[in-house]
Amino acid sequence: MRAALTFKFPFRAKPPRLPGETHANPAASVPRGRAAAAFAASLTFDAVERRYGQDKALKGVSLAIAPGEVVCLLGPSGCGKTTLLRIASGIEKPSRGRVLINDREVAGPERFVPPEERSVGLMFQDFALFPHLTILENVAFGLRQLPKDEARREALTILARVGLERYADGYPQILSGGQQQRVALARAMVPRPAVMLMDEPFSGLDVQLRDSMQEETLSLLRETRATSLIVTHHPEEAMRLGDRIAVMRDGLLVKVGTAEDLYRHPGELFVARMFSEINEVPYKVSKGVISTPIGTLPAPGVAQGETAVLCIRERGIVLGMPDEKKPGGSNPSDSSPTRAMAGRVLDVKFLGDVALLEVGVQGFDRPLRARARELEGWRRGAEVSVVIDPARVLVFSANGSETR
Ligand code: ATP
Repeated sequence: MRAALTFKFPFRAKPPRLPGETHANPAASVPRGRAAAAFAASLTFDAVERRYGQDKALKGVSLAIAPGEVVCLLGPSGCGKTTLLRIASGIEKPSRGRVLINDREVAGPERFVPPEERSVGLMFQDFALFPHLTILENVAFGLRQLPKDEARREALTILARVGLERYADGYPQILSGGQQQRVALARAMVPRPAVMLMDEPFSGLDVQLRDSMQEETLSLLRETRATSLIVTHHPEEAMRLGDRIAVMRDGLLVKVGTAEDLYRHPGELFVARMFSEINEVPYKVSKGVISTPIGTLPAPGVAQGETAVLCIRERGIVLGMPDEKKPGGSNPSDSSPTRAMAGRVLDVKFLGDVALLEVGVQGFDRPLRARARELEGWRRGAEVSVVIDPARVLVFSANGSETR
């Protein structure tokens, strides 16, 4: 289904210059345009399962993505991210459950709508450009149903939008990785899909290029209002791109929420580990609490004598000079004020802007890792004061579920 809107690109006065581009070619001074809005659609997975022989790659995934929303699918290798994307696109069928686009069933027990009739755009990590087609032909590939002139015009317009119109008649081999990524993005977006599915679209790019391409891609997705599902391995990428993040493990959705939700209330140790570097310290539960050097903390739901895990973020440990009573980080709503503990720096690793320190802390059986500003000039053997705000720690049961 193609949207009935005309694909207009009102031009900006001055295009930003992107990494890897030179302005040697006069065509480079042609301003880039802005994509027009498409119709946004909702995308819903309803108890989707996918079996391969005896193995279940998806074990009942339910997720509703609102029109125009960008959701990042995050999880370890083999947890089923690509399978879910392929099922949304129609390349694969679910073994059970349903997929709906705009509340219309596109895969389920009753019907199966083929990929080309779903208004879905797909972009893979290897970009999959056709080497024997020119860059313009690559982009126009998805517009084969249009008259040739019109397809060419639309393809040129979106190539201009991604700043590559001057390469229209060249072949993909002449492009850098970032430029190929932009061509692949243009090719996927030019039919104005209502739903955009991207499988690790930035993994082939180096770190600096990745940042700018993430921004570029997000702005194009926002302009076209495409409902987007983006697979990634990288929590930071998911936090930058996603309105919400859906965390998967072993064929199931573990947690869905905004970046802030997932950071503050991860719900599971597995999720907490994804979003920050943490110290995990086990304690035995007695009468529903654990007694720790930073105070008595509730561990509801954990049986008497069972283990609960205290999680302290490396960045949540505030270090100061030994005579500093309270270097900050306390929570005003917390009735028990944070107390400075005595500590000694056991090791320091220089990591650029921050230092990773190993600190022996009064009351803890084992050293804690802390990340602190490198500027402070931390030295091995130095005495320090250590403040850990009890309001900012997490407590999990031994099976990894958050206890409060
Ligand atoms: P990665 O991040 O490494 O790409 P993923 O989370 O995308 O992994 P999937 O590719 O969806 O994971 O695979 C999920 C599980 O399904 C894996 O165990 C994989 O081996 C299995 N699987 C996927 N496709 C097939 C297939 N065609 N036949 C058999 N097993 C498959």
